[in-house]
Amino acid sequence: MFGGPPKPGVPLKLTLDGKKVHDADQALLQIERRVGSGEVELGTCALCFEDMPKAKLMAACGRKGCSQQVDNDCLGEWVRHEVINQGVD
Ligand SMILES: [Zn+2]
Repeated sequence: MFGGPPKPGVPLKLTLDGKKVHDADQALLQIERRVGSGEVELGTCALCFEDMPKAKLMAACGRKGCSQQVDNDCLGEWVRHEVINQGVD
């Protein structure tokens, strides 16, 4: 969600009001917790079951009122699969 864990050996540098935040890992954890607590409205992708902001989700069938919400990446993968499968038959 945040581009993966930081690379080992590369110290995180965060500043707050010009002061260095000493425990950057803790700060990141708090941010993640805030996101998880519902301040950002989350939906669940029907393909990978990951929770993500609803802005990233779309109806799987492309119609309004479709209850299956999938994210951009999964929809792309899924469509590619469907096309390949049809090509084999
Ligand atoms: Zn997904």
